[in-house]
Amino acid sequence: MSANETLPAPALKRKLGTSGIEVSTIAWGMWRLAENGRTAADAAKLVHAALDAGMNFLDTADIYGFNGEGGFGDAEALLGKVLAVEPGLRGRMVLASKGGIMPPLPYDQSAGYLASAIDASLKRLRTETIDLYQIHRPDILAHPQEVARTLDDAVKAGKIRTLGVSNFTIHQVAALNQFLGNKLVATQPEISPLRITCFENGELDQAMMMGLIPLAWSPLGGGRLANLESERDKAVAAELDRVAGAQGVSRTVAAYSWLMAHPAGIIPIVGSQQPDRIAEAADAYKVRWSRQDWYAVLVSARGERLP
Ligand code: NAP
Repeated sequence: MSANETLPAPALKRKLGTSGIEVSTIAWGMWRLAENGRTAADAAKLVHAALDAGMNFLDTADIYGFNGEGGFGDAEALLGKVLAVEPGLRGRMVLASKGGIMPPLPYDQSAGYLASAIDASLKRLRTETIDLYQIHRPDILAHPQEVARTLDDAVKAGKIRTLGVSNFTIHQVAALNQFLGNKLVATQPEISPLRITCFENGELDQAMMMGLIPLAWSPLGGGRLANLESERDKAVAAELDRVAGAQGVSRTVAAYSWLMAHPAGIIPIVGSQQPDRIAEAADAYKVRWSRQDWYAVLVSARGERLP
């Protein structure tokens, strides 16, 4: 392949391990769902926007909205209200959630706590099962064998269907997966054109080796790609803009597509809570990257040439 030939187009769908559960390769995230006094009716509009744009993979966590009115679980509870009004939506989505962080304690994956966290998520979400349950951040004080046992029990009870992790090092992924008998299907690190560590630290190589789907959290750097702060941000944005301009899409869409061009099949989790921006994300399937342009973004993020 020459430097200007385009990289392969991303798949439209992927399966979560051997579960048969099919997910869209762009996901929508609900970290910010319970902000700004959003009502269930407004939240429903966002869920519809994601589903209508072809995104069936919806990501939340028990801790999202912990600083809101309910003190904990507000984002899950709001989605639960949406599902109570329109139960038919549940069947249209692959629902991912996370647990294992309990403020004010930083992380807790002890058997008792984790099992109760799964039950509490189900209750708030008003659903019988969570399709992908992710350990949000590793609890250094929990033995991975104990965590695996709790997760296995919840799978056997039908409370959760598939398993993932987030913010785990490659060794933490390997340890938990060993005790789970290789049942992990997904990993969720922070990845964006502004956060490129996992392109070179082995996390994505491990995901490809183990067949894990890498979900990219904060794919726009938490919005920084739209509101540039540093000289580095500007340099990365300039490279994205070159491709975005040539292919008639926005910079943010170019950023999603840049992640999706990676051979690990990265699934960006769109974080916007605006229907038009959620819908626009689907344009990422239209963008094709040349090897030259892809590396130009990486080099601008590195701030130095490749060796
Ligand atoms: P992001 O896409 O990097 O940032 C989204 C933010 O950028 C929103 O506040 C959005 O505001 C803003 N934004 C400004 N201009 C935009 C534009 N043109 N297009 C789109 N967004 C624009 O993602 P994120 O919200 O930080 O994270 C995405 C998801 O990742 C979360 O919902 C959550 O599911 C997951 N996450 C996971 C972890 C973890 O530890 N596992 C941590 C953080 C996030 P508007 O809403 O006004 O558009």
